[in-house]
Amino acid sequence: MRFMTRRWIALALAGALALGAASAAGTTATSAGATAAPAGATAASALAELKAGNGRHMKHHYAHPHQTASRMHALADGQHPHAIVLSCSDSRVPPEIVFDQGLGDLFTVRVAGNVAGDAELASIEYAVEHLHVPLLVVMGHESCGAVAAAIEGGEAPGHIAALVGVIQPSVEKARSLPGDLSTNAVRVNVETMVTALRSSHPILDQHVADGTLVIVGGVYSLKTGAVAWLPDSP
Ligand SMILES: [Zn+2]
Repeated sequence: MRFMTRRWIALALAGALALGAASAAGTTATSAGATAAPAGATAASALAELKAGNGRHMKHHYAHPHQTASRMHALADGQHPHAIVLSCSDSRVPPEIVFDQGLGDLFTVRVAGNVAGDAELASIEYAVEHLHVPLLVVMGHESCGAVAAAIEGGEAPGHIAALVGVIQPSVEKARSLPGDLSTNAVRVNVETMVTALRSSHPILDQHVADGTLVIVGGVYSLKTGAVAWLPDSP
């Protein structure tokens, strides 16, 4: 994982840069064709769908959309996801269940601590550039083990040290905030990644600037199943 470290640090540094509010939602996907997002899919409609799905998850009243054989067969010719979700590998936060989505709906990137190194960033760029996905959600969650490791500090074994090192600046920032350190660190870690991704050059920043990509952050509650969206989310 050493090769990722430099990029992770770059992202963390980029996260320190203040950026403006998210681009206005409601941008229509620009391209048609086999790999484009569905016609009419916008950041606003995708986010609304995720919020509705999360509401169903909270009530344990699932619609289980897009999980039929016909859906599977239809997707054999190409994918048209309407949202990218960068979330933690934690087994308790699978995006398809948390948002009650089905086959071909979400382009998911999962890594402990929901931070993006080169491979994760490349995955996101592919979905934005080639699949024209209009929405990227960075989703942290309460009681995140990766964030807890960063709070604990000390020597982390194996490659875990590189991952913890990326989260460390967010933890240090959270230490100066009132309230629960773990809760604050999880939120700041999401905020840092959202900010870094919005300014990620050369692909994501351009799409954010021209309104074809909206990046939002949220924190998932293990107790209620609810995703609390960051204040600057549409
Ligand atoms: Zn986690």
